[in-house]
Amino acid sequence: ALFITDECINCDVCEPACPNEAISEGDDIYVIDPDLCTECVGHFDEPQCVVICPVDCIPKDPDHVETESDLLAKYKRITGQ
Ligand code: SF4
Ligand code: SF4
Repeated sequence: ALFITDECINCDVCEPACPNEAISEGDDIYVIDPDLCTECVGHFDEPQCVVICPVDCIPKDPDHVETESDLLAKYKRITGQ
C-alpha cells in the first residue's frame, strides 16, 4: 500500500482518482486505507494518486510492504474475482 505524508495540501484530486475508493479525507490530511490500496495493481500500470498528486506526497508505506502478487490477491479480494 501507499500512504500520504503530512506534505498533503488537501487538494482533493486524488480521492476520486482511486479505483478502489481507498482514499478519504482524514482529520488533518487525506488518508489511504491500506486494506483497500492495491497500488493500482489490477486497474492501472501506475498508481493514479501518485500520477495526479501536485505535491508528490504519496510514497510506499514502509509499514505495509507488499509484493506484486500480494497486491494482485488484494485486487481479486476487493473486486470479488
Ligand atoms: Fe488508490 Fe491506486 Fe493510490 Fe492505492 S495507489 S490509493 S489504489 S489510487
Ligand atoms: Fe493530498 Fe496529494 Fe491527495 Fe492532494 S492529491 S489531497 S495533496 S495526497
